[in-house]
Amino acid sequence: MISFYLAGHDYEFEIKNVFKIFDLNSEIKIYYDDKIDLNHSGLIVLSEFISSFDRLACRTSLYLNKMQIRCVTIDEKDIRLEKDDNKKLKKTIVKKSLYYVLSEYFNEKAEYGFLTGIRPNKILDTAIKNNMSREDINLILKNTYEVSDDKIQLLNEIYNRQTEYMCEEKNISNYNLYIHIPFCPTRCIYCSFVSFSKYNQIVLDEYVKKLIYEIEETIKLAISNNLKLNTVYFGGGTPSVLSIKNMDDIFNVIKKYYNLDDISEISFEAGRPDTINEEKLECLKKNCVSRISINPQTMNEETLLKISRVHSVKDIEDTYYLARKIGFNSINMDLIIGLPEESPEDVLNSIKRVVNLKPDNITVHALSYKKGSELINKTKDLLKDTDTIEKMYEITRHTCIENGYNPYYMYRQKNIKGNLENIGYALEGKESIYNIVIIEEVETILGCGAGAVSKILKGGGRHERVQNYKDLIEYNKNIQRNIEQKCEILTN
Ligand code: SF4
Repeated sequence: MISFYLAGHDYEFEIKNVFKIFDLNSEIKIYYDDKIDLNHSGLIVLSEFISSFDRLACRTSLYLNKMQIRCVTIDEKDIRLEKDDNKKLKKTIVKKSLYYVLSEYFNEKAEYGFLTGIRPNKILDTAIKNNMSREDINLILKNTYEVSDDKIQLLNEIYNRQTEYMCEEKNISNYNLYIHIPFCPTRCIYCSFVSFSKYNQIVLDEYVKKLIYEIEETIKLAISNNLKLNTVYFGGGTPSVLSIKNMDDIFNVIKKYYNLDDISEISFEAGRPDTINEEKLECLKKNCVSRISINPQTMNEETLLKISRVHSVKDIEDTYYLARKIGFNSINMDLIIGLPEESPEDVLNSIKRVVNLKPDNITVHALSYKKGSELINKTKDLLKDTDTIEKMYEITRHTCIENGYNPYYMYRQKNIKGNLENIGYALEGKESIYNIVIIEEVETILGCGAGAVSKILKGGGRHERVQNYKDLIEYNKNIQRNIEQKCEILTN
């Protein structure tokens, strides 16, 4: 148990996120008071905001066994931000002073300092739009947010690589159609996505019937609002559980409005080899799918069993070769580092076997402890394993770079092992447009299907969200409501 006393501010959310950089397990109790009770067991933190006419500061003190063991004060002069924002300044002072005391106490520094948001690149983007020089931005990342030199270099590299996909004028008039297929043959132990593993063909047919209606109405809405279709993305779940007829039915509705050949990118997550066969791949090829994902997550047989996958490494390789034979020239493969009981040697084996196949994209995820997953329900201690994960991360990074794969998009998740990030690598010119525009939030995403999220771009880089019901029955009942919500946001 850790007791937090907040005085002069109410940044409870921020405080909790900074604490989780170091510890995912301890229960956190918050008090709004500057009088601390030293009788609490465990760590006690007092975070006091100091505000006078000429000074903004935060003093954070750490107590253990009734003794003060650390105290750090951060002043506004210690902070330089990417934009003028008084509220952000206050939050940053509070977060930084807490980060310092915890970093000393745990004897650990985080690669991303106390940045806890999903998109660290947003800082670069905001600063560049505010005409700051790259040198100044790097100093802000280093001195204000405590980001390591390696990560600063990575952020810059990714930002530079993405610039060719960024054109405000085009981005604002584009939309991307996301189609969610929430079914998987078995449930992976780390999964918290909307995905059902109890289904049969009747359930799939029924789902696709409703989905097609939502897709058609969504396309009509986009067209009437002068949005141009940029990419289509089939995600899940495992979209390749669909039958060939299901797939054709979905593509037929899109074909009523668009020439599939003209769409910049159509991606299809054929994630699990146990759901793929030659006929399905032929069907996707015929329907102009330009990029597919075959996702091993690991190339170690024992781990596949442990994470509840019901296919072998050979199945993955066979499916990959089949897809190449059919003519797919953009194939992505996902790996996860930090899977149960895997060592750096296991990760080395996985990345080497993947690289030997020569996919066009490799996405490396760090395992994240997600609420609702079997893993989090079973695991007593949620370990960050920072040193081991960093070693694994280095192995994947080194192997990818050595083999001509460049990092081109990244995002971070909450409760992630090693406090690192998920990185998409691509061979030159093989970047996924959809991944860039969704992560950087530069274009509208219109989502269809149970649990799909629409993010509709409004002025000033702001998005409005529509979240479809995750439950299949509720989704069916509320399709019309989902469409009306999208319509309202698009037209206002
Ligand atoms: S394949 Fe993906 S969506 Fe399906 S259970 Fe595994 S992690 Fe979840």
